[in-house]
Amino acid sequence: MDLPLDIDTVKGFLDPAEGRALQQAAIATAALGPALEIGAYCGKSAVYIGAACKQAGSMLFSLDHHRGSEENQPGWEYHDPELWDEDAGALDTLPHLRRTLRRAGLEEVVTPIVGRSADVARVWGARLGLLFIDGGHTMGAALGDYRGWTPHLAQGGVLAIHDVFPDPADGGRPPFEIYQRALASDLFEETLAVKSLRLLRRL
Ligand code: MG
Repeated sequence: MDLPLDIDTVKGFLDPAEGRALQQAAIATAALGPALEIGAYCGKSAVYIGAACKQAGSMLFSLDHHRGSEENQPGWEYHDPELWDEDAGALDTLPHLRRTLRRAGLEEVVTPIVGRSADVARVWGARLGLLFIDGGHTMGAALGDYRGWTPHLAQGGVLAIHDVFPDPADGGRPPFEIYQRALASDLFEETLAVKSLRLLRRL
């Protein structure tokens, strides 16, 4: 599937092979319900998933508080000074997401939600076809996303988790921990592993 813009011009940490796997999952699950991603950042994954949703006649909800995860904060490994809002004294990735969606022609397909994952999960009503967890990497954040959102996944839907690193030397453990919990729950079976992305089907 062609992407609607040069994806290398969008900040973010999603590998193209991971993006394509998410696109296939979005198309395969579009009939079950809309897609939702946690952790929009500047919209790189939203372009991949959104383009697939557009083709399939589905929608993507892209959830983020847009103040950056721990590792994006000043002094941390993934801090980008270009995302700093001087007036707010904080990161603000929302203008970058909106710019990406406008450039990609996906404003009608991707609906940004600005807020905290747990708050939105608590009141969410729709059954999801695809749930992509790519939010904070603390245990509290990852576990909250897993507990709060997987109950909203339709049977046959796909749970996608990014930054799953079986070897702790490659990265932080919480995404791997929730991946392990999903498998141990007997509610999911793994269908695909691409780089640090894992896809699990809700049984
Ligand atoms: Mg990630």
